[in-house]
Amino acid sequence: MKHAKSKKYFKEAKKVIPGGVNSPVRAFKAVGGCPVFIDKAKGAYIYDVDGNKYIDYVLSWGPMILGHANDKILKPVSRLLKNGTSFGAPTRREVELAQLVAKAYPSIEKVRLTSSGTEAAMSAIRLARGYTGRDKIIKFEGCYHGHYDSLLVKAGSGAATFGVPSSAGVNASFAKDTITLPYNDLESVKKVIRKEKNKIACLILEPIPANMGVVLPERNYLKALRKITEENDIILIFDEVITGFRVALGGAQEIYNIKPDLTVLGKIIGGGFPIGAFAGKAKIMNCLSPDGSVYQAGTLSGNPIAVEAGINTIKALRNKKAYKQLDRKGELFEDGLRKISDRTGTKIVINRFGSLLTVFFTTQGSVKNYADAAKCDAAKFGKYFGGMLDQGVYCAPSQFEANFLSVKHTVKDIERTLEAAEKVLMGV
Ligand SMILES: *Cc1c(COP(=O)(O)O)cnc(C)c1O
Repeated sequence: MKHAKSKKYFKEAKKVIPGGVNSPVRAFKAVGGCPVFIDKAKGAYIYDVDGNKYIDYVLSWGPMILGHANDKILKPVSRLLKNGTSFGAPTRREVELAQLVAKAYPSIEKVRLTSSGTEAAMSAIRLARGYTGRDKIIKFEGCYHGHYDSLLVKAGSGAATFGVPSSAGVNASFAKDTITLPYNDLESVKKVIRKEKNKIACLILEPIPANMGVVLPERNYLKALRKITEENDIILIFDEVITGFRVALGGAQEIYNIKPDLTVLGKIIGGGFPIGAFAGKAKIMNCLSPDGSVYQAGTLSGNPIAVEAGINTIKALRNKKAYKQLDRKGELFEDGLRKISDRTGTKIVINRFGSLLTVFFTTQGSVKNYADAAKCDAAKFGKYFGGMLDQGVYCAPSQFEANFLSVKHTVKDIERTLEAAEKVLMGV
């Protein structure tokens, strides 16, 4: 495979863009390579500027669940474009998107749209603080909620990839109100709440973490978190930016039958355009400006094009078969990888929920939290990633990320991927 043009563009990019990228994980730094510059995409495939074709398991980090350039999105969006692209005034489609979200999530009565997941998580935290009059928040090690200061303490995703658990430039005075605990460890939550319950505004988590790689909640863990937060008037925030409309139409809260107080959404609800949302009980959401005293705003919030793409994505997913089929493909992928790891004697752990999957290179036997994930062999992962890329498979370029499947990935695509994995794992 040739990458001459990508190399040239990356060299130019590094002169005018920090690290050559607009979001760190794109730089392939953790996997020791040069990023490929993407030219176009269709369905399950992306094509780089050198003309190479890849089966794409990144899917823009999740939003493209219908596959790239799907006509169900392209057609309505193209029609709408000629009516103007932003007004800074209300449109009826924002109402429709809010209604669709509220319908799919029984915990949600009101929805406020933003332009990114980061903004939505940040605003949800502010709202929780405003509503409770308390300062502290609890988050979990390896859970990522965007790059807002208070949330960049022991965050996953890019922050984990680069070994900066907390970023430079985050004031100690911000970080001191963030209590970070290990995921899947209920005792540590109980202990902190016993001591500080009257100071804690909210507990935020990814109900199925996907930013330390995919990690599954242990049995009854989420239910127990719901119970203890409810008993202590602590706002429970589910960050479902990845899991929302991904693991089920109603997200992880549908799967585990839990009603958080607030939910953060993003990615899929914009169908590939910039978006975020935070949502929940009316009595909490009503504290937002202009009705309430918690300020929050955005020039492009509820952008008509993003909203139209989101509406049509959700509508296409409103058929029960979609999630069954995504799960079946995920299962095929997982089973195939397990057989290959047995045949090649490669020590890996595969964590999967539906169409979200991570291959951890570890001898530990299980990955249940960030400490486990951090013990993985990054060099081995890098080799695997590079090998797969050479075989025309574009996986997430970090050990601490999920791979995503779309409705457009075929059984044949997965079989091709497994053939590549067999070759690559023999050499890892
Ligand atoms: C991607 C992500 C965010 C941040 O969303 P952006 O749109 O990138 O700002 C927040 N939370 C989770 C769980 C995410 O995966």
